[in-house]
Amino acid sequence: MAKCKGCGAEIVWIRTPNGKAMPCDPEKKVLVSDEGEIISGRVPHWATCPAANKFRKQ
Ligand SMILES: [Zn+2]
Repeated sequence: MAKCKGCGAEIVWIRTPNGKAMPCDPEKKVLVSDEGEIISGRVPHWATCPAANKFRKQ
């Protein structure tokens, strides 16, 4: 499994529909959309990474 260069947490790479790879947290979350649909998905790692601010500056 890949590791975040900023905080060392384990991450998984998810390919988005437009072909980009996005780092996400490994555990799946159940979310509810604004339309009331239940979605199983992952949280993008930059949303939870304590070092995310470092990435944005680079
Ligand atoms: Zn991180």
